[in-house]
Amino acid sequence: MDSRLPDTSREKLEAWLRYYNDLNLGEFFIDRRTMGKRSVKPAAVPLQTTAVAPLAAAAAATSAAPASILPVVQAVSLFEALDRVEGDTLELVRENLGECTRCRLHKQRNKIVFGVGNPRAELVFVGEGPGHDEDVQGLPFVGRAGKLLTQMIEAMGLQREDVYICNVVKCRPPENRKPEDDEVATCSPYLYRQLDVIAPKAIVCLGGVAAQTLLKTKDPISRFRGNWFDFRNTKLLATYHPAYLLRNPNAKGEVWKDLQKVMAFLGLQPKKSSR
Ligand code: URA
Repeated sequence: MDSRLPDTSREKLEAWLRYYNDLNLGEFFIDRRTMGKRSVKPAAVPLQTTAVAPLAAAAAATSAAPASILPVVQAVSLFEALDRVEGDTLELVRENLGECTRCRLHKQRNKIVFGVGNPRAELVFVGEGPGHDEDVQGLPFVGRAGKLLTQMIEAMGLQREDVYICNVVKCRPPENRKPEDDEVATCSPYLYRQLDVIAPKAIVCLGGVAAQTLLKTKDPISRFRGNWFDFRNTKLLATYHPAYLLRNPNAKGEVWKDLQKVMAFLGLQPKKSSR
């Protein structure tokens, strides 16, 4: 059977793909083995693009996903195909990432920092991007901020191995600058796939970049930290980044309150004091 598209459909498809590319919607991950099968997971929840609104408002937006518009993918809408890769695994995401050169961050990186931890974790921490120590070791949160994160995880009654830890961008931005919007747009589809594969019960965003990326907002984190949001049917809470806590130890109390909300949701007991 000739599986090629008729010329008019191909032109339409190419035009749509150019259009999505212009909109910076990122890469398409269409697994052709699964074409024609319906995605097992529910459709993505469209998120606010400007201001962040708590859970109920995000849930109300679920019906906004456009219907299938192209003849190519019959049972899976283009948006589902864009967002979710059926049968995906962390290994496949890593493999697809490869020795990535998709954005300028690859030029100065030493190692890609993909993520580490329990692939079936109930809790995922998402940071901003690797720093110097992470770039050297290829592991997230292993420097000074990472040590503080480990203490936070342990205070929650967990071990680092119980959770999954990753970042918005997988390569170190030079001089630890914030990742640029286009770098985030290029790298975040891999983060989305990691989160879809792990399917945790809760996601904790560490700092503004992670929270603004996943919640698609430009609002400062101080405006919405400590509140629960919906991220693709998973509860998400943002708190301050451990590096911020190193500079502002007075904010530790607020972060602990945020983490206690996560613990209550996951039914975790705080670590018993050794005294
Ligand atoms: N800061 C981050 O956001 N991520 C890391 O992996 C380390 C420091």
